[in-house]
Amino acid sequence: MSRPTEITIDLQALSHNVTLTEGLAPNSHHMAVIKADAYGHGACDIARALEGRVRLFAVSSLDEAVVLRDEGIHTPILLLEGCFDDGELKTASALGFHTVLHNESQLTALQRVPLNSPMHVWLKVDTGMHRLGIPSERVHQVFEKLRGCENVEDITLLTHLACADSVDTAMTVRQLDRFRQVMSSLPTGLPRSIANSAAILAHPQSHTEWNRPGIMLYGLSPFEHAHPAADRLKPVMTFHSEVIAVRDIPRGESVGYGAVWTATRPSTIATVAVGYGDGYPRNARNGTPVLVKGQRASLAGRVSMDMITVDVTEIGDVKVGDPVELWGQQLNANEVAQWADTIGYELVTRMPKRTPRRIVT
Ligand SMILES: *Cc1c(COP(=O)(O)O)cnc(C)c1O
Repeated sequence: MSRPTEITIDLQALSHNVTLTEGLAPNSHHMAVIKADAYGHGACDIARALEGRVRLFAVSSLDEAVVLRDEGIHTPILLLEGCFDDGELKTASALGFHTVLHNESQLTALQRVPLNSPMHVWLKVDTGMHRLGIPSERVHQVFEKLRGCENVEDITLLTHLACADSVDTAMTVRQLDRFRQVMSSLPTGLPRSIANSAAILAHPQSHTEWNRPGIMLYGLSPFEHAHPAADRLKPVMTFHSEVIAVRDIPRGESVGYGAVWTATRPSTIATVAVGYGDGYPRNARNGTPVLVKGQRASLAGRVSMDMITVDVTEIGDVKVGDPVELWGQQLNANEVAQWADTIGYELVTRMPKRTPRRIVT
């Protein structure tokens, strides 16, 4: 038998999450954000499962979009950071991609480069995140230039919220106000896009023609706090392995590199075939929950490249070959993330190529 470490991708959970998302914002369209290899879930597999279900995909870069086209994905794709040079603009136009326009050099490129077919342009407004976007006071002028540009098919206004996941709504209210002000300086009836997962879940006033769910499609909550709708999402990725060794050690003995965990009682230690080389975070602390045979145990000692050690003293009768879940449907990735000073987004997204992925339907 080969090394048992793998992730499974549950397409029924994905479908459940899409349905839940649509139910929260029944008057919006939803593009599926599948950047960064669909947050580590496999962009081609996720896109294939969602073709016909959503009308638009969003990725970060032209390269990510081209891979999807090459794999036979026909749904239109939005480039969230836009085009980086004239050549990209030509390719994006030829392949029918939509592009974000977030700065004025992208505007001059669009005015200068001859394109065979005009593009769907998503004009990004900086309403306070101060990462990407045209400053709100410049939007009117940029919009007028776009409207007069023959390379532009149509224009959607878009902004991104900095604090949609926070229980403090002041920043979100301020950004939505600014966006409303910008819209009032433009012709009426233009399509808009504001909401990410957190805003879809927590800020119905941000729902517009196009919402942009990412993490919630993969079944993880964007919040640190409990939330009734977010808590009904189903994790799509489950990260599995198995116990490959079991030993009893006396009180006072330590475990693993650096001897950073010491038994305070006679203990049973299970060694599991997963480590940071497989995507398990090296900085996970002693005590991080690990599910062995469906029961909670805790990480004991430093994470190695290919192995972790787990205190299974309380579980009893743990054997080589017993199943282990690192995170997924029984143990939420967001809970594990807290033990590694990160968020579930990062844990799933940085899954390395080494880890085999299996689709379950
Ligand atoms: C990644 C991203 C999203 C999706 O965010 P989630 O928090 O995963 O829902 C939406 N909009 C933009 C511009 C993004 O970059």
